[in-house]
Amino acid sequence: MPMSGKRQDLLNMLCDLSDLSALVTGSANIENFLQRTVALVSGHLGTPVCSIYLYDETADELVLKATVGLNPDAVDRVRMGDGQGLVGTVMASRQAICEGHASNNPHFRFFPETDELPYESFLAVPIQKGVVKIGVLVVQHTESDYFETSDVLALKATGAQLAAVLENARLLMDLQRMCRLPERPVGNLGFIKGQSASGGVAFARATVWGKSHGSLVAEPAVADSGTMADFRRAVKKTGEQLDVLQQRCAERLPESAALIFATHFMMLKDPKFVDRMAEQIEKGDPASRAVRQVARYYLNLFADSPHPYIREKVSDIEDLAGRLLNNLAPSSPDGNGDTSNRVVIAQALYPSELLKLAAESVAGIVLANGGVTSHVAIIARSLKIPMVVVQCPELMHLPEVTPVLVDGEVGNVYVDPSADIIARFDARNQARRQVTAHQTLNRAGTARTRDGTRVDLLANINLLGELRLAREMGAVGIGLYRTEFPFLIRPSFPSETEQYLVYRQVVAAMGDKPVVFRTLDIGGEKTLAYTDSDNEPNPELGLRSIRFTLAYRDIFEQQVRAILRAAAGSDAVGIMFPLISSVDDLLLARQVVRDCQDRLKADGLDHNDHPAIGMMIELPSVVETMAEFAAEADFFAIGTNDFVQYMLGVDRGNKRVADYYRPEHPSVLRALERVVRVAVDHGKPISVCGEMGHDEAMIPFLLGIGLRRLSIDPQFMPAVHQCIAGLEVGLCRDHARALLSAGSIDAVQKILAQF
Ligand code: PEP
Ligand code: MG
Repeated sequence: MPMSGKRQDLLNMLCDLSDLSALVTGSANIENFLQRTVALVSGHLGTPVCSIYLYDETADELVLKATVGLNPDAVDRVRMGDGQGLVGTVMASRQAICEGHASNNPHFRFFPETDELPYESFLAVPIQKGVVKIGVLVVQHTESDYFETSDVLALKATGAQLAAVLENARLLMDLQRMCRLPERPVGNLGFIKGQSASGGVAFARATVWGKSHGSLVAEPAVADSGTMADFRRAVKKTGEQLDVLQQRCAERLPESAALIFATHFMMLKDPKFVDRMAEQIEKGDPASRAVRQVARYYLNLFADSPHPYIREKVSDIEDLAGRLLNNLAPSSPDGNGDTSNRVVIAQALYPSELLKLAAESVAGIVLANGGVTSHVAIIARSLKIPMVVVQCPELMHLPEVTPVLVDGEVGNVYVDPSADIIARFDARNQARRQVTAHQTLNRAGTARTRDGTRVDLLANINLLGELRLAREMGAVGIGLYRTEFPFLIRPSFPSETEQYLVYRQVVAAMGDKPVVFRTLDIGGEKTLAYTDSDNEPNPELGLRSIRFTLAYRDIFEQQVRAILRAAAGSDAVGIMFPLISSVDDLLLARQVVRDCQDRLKADGLDHNDHPAIGMMIELPSVVETMAEFAAEADFFAIGTNDFVQYMLGVDRGNKRVADYYRPEHPSVLRALERVVRVAVDHGKPISVCGEMGHDEAMIPFLLGIGLRRLSIDPQFMPAVHQCIAGLEVGLCRDHARALLSAGSIDAVQKILAQF
């Protein structure tokens, strides 16, 4: 039986593609291969448009890579997020979409760059290899209802055949991109999609952090120069600059004490460092060469150290030598390396480096190599520095003073943005300021639902600088003070007295309002450079939080003593333990507090002898034994960030499994309901202090299951206050009941969407 022309063509297409290797070897380059592939498919299917989108894993976006029919200039420019538009929906759902009237589909999105005509028929198939997303193959036709089932099957088969070779193409393109980096005209970067690490928007000239440091190793672009007198002047000026920075640091970050620039000061005074440079100058070397050579010697020495703490010092030496070199350069006293009111581009940052940048009033930060530890992100948030993380090493070659706009709200970076984009951001900023001003008028720690039920809003605090905002927002108290921050921003363990001085400020600032000190929650990804805890194979399941402090009893006792002393005379201080997995842990930790009380009493030191003892609910193991916990603990705080992580077995910081991190998972909701019910039945206060506490989609559920205390970042208080004011507890209860009867994430989401 003769085949119809179209079916014969489909078969031909599959045969042609089966000789993919010939198509690959016959192509001049990967772009050409992709172009030939779309030409082949469009020819066989008789469609005016055929396009290939490849998945850019680092940006989590699909990028148009080849097309016939659409504007060729749109290649590499049209990008869409997973789930965005019809093509994004195909990738996100991993399902083909065949649409006879595409513009009627709610997911349809028009991209003006493509000069797209009204192509009514749309057929797209996902290209994937196992679970790996590779891209989407799309064909379009102006006629409505053009595609038949056989087309869908053929395109699917084509996509499957293309998967392996396209995966290689994608990897090679990435490789090419990386190899081209140094020569690539960075001015073309334009828009870079990244991830937000800290909100806010900054628009300023860029400076590349560490660029002057790199020049310590490379040969200088300009001839070495500088006399002994120049060198002495540079040392003096550097000392003065450090003094100013130190003072600013102390004002903005009192808990960092005088330590942030300590290494700089010590090295400036260290004969082995400065005198060695002077000796070389005396022997006839120009000053800049002497600085570079001596700095290089120390850099090599420190960089080889197996201790992260010493390696961290490398950045201090780089920074100090960079400052000396800048101050030696007569023409650019405030040139490269000056970060005040700049957008800083850096590969990665240590907490101490971030603090130095904060002292210099950096405007915003872009981290160019794709990763950020949560404590660096939290410090940036606490300091209100917009920060975006991108995977774009090219940025490290950006010419100094290029204007850069950092949109920390959504995680976008615009290099040398057009006037249009700047105007859009100005307008958005203005609108946001108005909304915030309006919401701030409503601020009050005690929120009330429409039917008058009281909900207390407490503040989560990481740095002392945030206390002011907490008070301004009318927080009812501090529901979570993360005590690890003074530890994270220092180069070594703070002493009991240093801790006492910090904690005292927290208690004093809040007067008689409640303050909950959470004991040291380090380990996992919150590692201290000065401990060796970062070489565990499975840090999230390792010696973290309470397990660390129970293992290092002296560190734990010093902290507890400091808290008890700071809380002397207060009736509203609580001590809370993180990551408690069993009643036994709780009793052990509580005993440490009691022992400390006894010893403080014996030492005759003023202290609090009746702190409330609470615990965080972060592990699933707590759920089954909640009644036993409720018999022992004075209060509870649910750390939903970790609770979701451990309940679902999903690393909360791993982008690759981010889709599995579902606070709305039915098991999470039911477990939350259960622990709240048991706590309430036992008359024990319970709050939520994880991110769920300010998620407006989840607040009705939280109230519905009986929560009346939310501890949140103070910046969210006005919005949460307003959200609660619009709710009715009776309706929240019905809503919670409906959610608790839903058995799948999908079902939960449908109910959430309807509320
Ligand atoms: C939590 O896990 O929800 C929590 C509040 O603790 P952290 O985010 O500090 O781990
Ligand atoms: Mg936690």
